[in-house]
Amino acid sequence: MLLGGLECGGTKMVCAVGDEKGRILKKETFPSLTPEETMPKIIDFFRENSVIAIGIASFGPVDPDMKSPTYGYITSTTKVHWKNYNLLGTIRNALSIPCGFDTDVNGAVLGEVTYGCMKGLSNALYITVGTGIGIGVYSNGALLHGMLHPEGGHVTVRRHPDDTFEGNCIYHGDCLEGLASGSALDARFGKKAEFIKSDDPVWTFESYYLAQAIVNYILILSPEKIVMGGGVMNRTELLPMIRKDVVKLLNGYIHSPKIENIDEYITASALNGNQAVMGCMKLAYDAACSS
Ligand code: ZN
Repeated sequence: MLLGGLECGGTKMVCAVGDEKGRILKKETFPSLTPEETMPKIIDFFRENSVIAIGIASFGPVDPDMKSPTYGYITSTTKVHWKNYNLLGTIRNALSIPCGFDTDVNGAVLGEVTYGCMKGLSNALYITVGTGIGIGVYSNGALLHGMLHPEGGHVTVRRHPDDTFEGNCIYHGDCLEGLASGSALDARFGKKAEFIKSDDPVWTFESYYLAQAIVNYILILSPEKIVMGGGVMNRTELLPMIRKDVVKLLNGYIHSPKIENIDEYITASALNGNQAVMGCMKLAYDAACSS
């Protein structure tokens, strides 16, 4: 069966055609302009490829509550054109096929537990560190939503004593995202994170903040494995620093072979950036099966 996957990002929309085995047969990307400009291209793509169901994983905040009148909307985003936008409804009305819907990071964790390096686990965590920071949580064999959906990028972290950057989250200033996201790194330096040298002290701060958040996620969610992705994590020097800081901050409190084997416990994705769109295939498959 041909399934559609749509990963909606703040800068680009990734459209894919694939199957329930997570194979991606075709992929096209459109810039995220206004809905009026971008949505017709997305709809045409899926229409031309005759998919029988679509899974959508979107940047947020979104409304993932199937009982809510605004289910499938992008809600209070800072991307003004997409604020309170009926993303799911627009696609469903245009194509009249079953659609699954969730956050981009829940899409990524679903991709990992279905097809990737967390396959078969019941409790898994995906963290993206990109323009923003987000977490996707798979708990007791299901994606975690709750009141809304996890917003682990905005947790409070203890400031590094040598860090004078005030933070750039428009809601909280120096929350995790305000201190450690790609946009926070850009704001600290006035240039893109990829141009920051490997030995710059900022990576010490970056690791310190991300490790604190990960320790909190471990203590609260008890994930069996953690995968990290997003543009900032392309800095390969960062992951070993984070692992070291996590062990240091846990300070022997958690007794588990997983923590002893931290290199296997906190890893990078091995799905080549396709984790969210592969999660969309699973969302589409589930939507097709339940329709
Ligand atoms: Zn914040």
